[in-house]
Amino acid sequence: MSFRATVLTLYPEMFPGALGLSLAGRALEAGAWSLEPVQIRDFAADRHRTVDDSPAGGGAGMVMRADVLARAIDHASPQGDPRPRLLMSPRGRPLTQARVRELAAGPGAVILCGRFEGVDQRVIEARGLEEVSVGDFILSGGEPAALVLLDAVVRLLPGVMGNAASGDEESFESGLLEHPQYTRPQVFEGLQIPDVLTSGNHARIARWRREQAEMLTAERRPDLLAAKEATTTTG
Ligand code: SAH
Repeated sequence: MSFRATVLTLYPEMFPGALGLSLAGRALEAGAWSLEPVQIRDFAADRHRTVDDSPAGGGAGMVMRADVLARAIDHASPQGDPRPRLLMSPRGRPLTQARVRELAAGPGAVILCGRFEGVDQRVIEARGLEEVSVGDFILSGGEPAALVLLDAVVRLLPGVMGNAASGDEESFESGLLEHPQYTRPQVFEGLQIPDVLTSGNHARIARWRREQAEMLTAERRPDLLAAKEATTTTG
């Protein structure tokens, strides 16, 4: 059983979008994963196919209706569907590589993309939606966030990455940012590749990369080092 993604959206044309190309696109064609966009508007009850209304309590913008969303979710993910139900949301828990790995190991995901000011709180609770954020900024809709999440998941699926080993050394997998990378030419605008990397001494190279990764992480993301410390001391 391959990873099955169902995306609930007002813009199904945005899918697979960028995920139809390159690594993810080839994996999609090969059946390593599947993607089903669902038009939320198809679950509206009125002639005008209304999916949103003004916020209770007043204020700017519109809110997506709980009843319409619940119908769309129940259709896309009937009872017994083992897949987690995610709501892309700036209020959610920030997406991490650890969560991406868990998702990639599971049966798939049902992903709800918000628009306007967001969705009625009651559908989040009634359908047990897990809110997931892709960062501390506001997008105009959940679709680009869903594409980001799926891109991160799909590259981890079995057989998708040509060189499977390269997945393990990447930033975050070790709790550290990745060391700097170099390739030919040997001299670029007068800048040399560090000698150690052309020395052929694999132990020295490994040590240099490790030191670089630690320095870089301390400088740019001390929060990652603190989190790493906390997990090694608590087991
Ligand atoms: N009024 C909301 C923002 C709504 S943005 C607030 O202030 O919290 C419209 C939709 O875009 C959201 O419902 C969500 O689905 C999506 N979205 C916006 N920013 C996001 C982010 N950082 N991560 C994930 N989804 C996001």
